[in-house]
Amino acid sequence: MAAVHLLNADLHCHSVHSDGSLPPDELARLAHAGGVQLWSLTDHDELAGQHAARAAAEALGMAYVCGVEVSISFLGETVHVLGLDVDPDHPGLNAGLARLRAGREHRAREMGESLARVGIHGAYEGARRYAGNPDLVSRTHFARFLVEHGHCASVHEVFQRYLKEGLPGFVPHHWAALGEAMQWIRDAGGLPVLAHPARYRFSPTEEWALFHEFVGHGGVGVEVTCGAHFPDEATRYAATAEEFGLLASRGSDFHAPGESRVAPGELPDLPARCTAVWTRWADRLQHLRPAAELA
Ligand code: AMP
Ligand code: MN
Ligand code: MN
Ligand code: MN
Repeated sequence: MAAVHLLNADLHCHSVHSDGSLPPDELARLAHAGGVQLWSLTDHDELAGQHAARAAAEALGMAYVCGVEVSISFLGETVHVLGLDVDPDHPGLNAGLARLRAGREHRAREMGESLARVGIHGAYEGARRYAGNPDLVSRTHFARFLVEHGHCASVHEVFQRYLKEGLPGFVPHHWAALGEAMQWIRDAGGLPVLAHPARYRFSPTEEWALFHEFVGHGGVGVEVTCGAHFPDEATRYAATAEEFGLLASRGSDFHAPGESRVAPGELPDLPARCTAVWTRWADRLQHLRPAAELA
């Protein structure tokens, strides 16, 4: 098991099918170049890239599991749960995700109107131009448009000034309920993994409630080492994983060259006390030698 634990796994990335900038095959090449041995493309609320991602990964000799990152509303905050190793053609999961995508169009129009009120015009149309998938206009596409038009210097600055809760471009939205989204993932044969837990603005009690309900609904893992976590946060959530009996996941959350802090595969190993979520697929991974042995 120790050997499998040390694989270079990157189980969180985005393509043009959601708010990433690269098509799945280019992303696969980048992941492979970054040393990734086990990969998952996890677009927001969308499975359209899965067959292309799997084909590209396998052609490069990487192991692949299908994935998705589902948008959820929990205690008034948006929470993301990854579904790893899902069947990308499962009707129930696809129907649930289609409902989430449908809600994005209305939100995007309202965001455009909201930005127009502070003097930023044409943002809805602009964001749509950036969206490779017309069903999936995200805040990231608005951010890229605002950068291109000189309103801010970086995507990150756009979020700080316009797109977070309470700011002029933010429109509250109701995503899936935690239990229903986890049911879609489990019905599709996938493992629910709580994404980037350090990024939610919960009190300790609310965070405990999230983990407690996540486990109650059949949650299996939590992201410990990820692009959105600082090293001390990885240490903290390694302990939380142990406390709640969860497996640990690792993923860059890569979106775009020049925009994302961490490239695919370029992450620290999981803390030694963790059990990797991919030990669940150990029988499929035996042919891969750990990155440490290859070095
Ligand atoms: P949405 O699903 O449309 O609400 O967009 C959420 C996406 O916005 C996340 O998946 C990130 O890609 C991006 N995002 C959220 N917060 C930030 C931030 N502070 N800086 C850069 N990107 C962010
Ligand atoms: Mn994103
Ligand atoms: Mn996320
Ligand atoms: Mn993500």
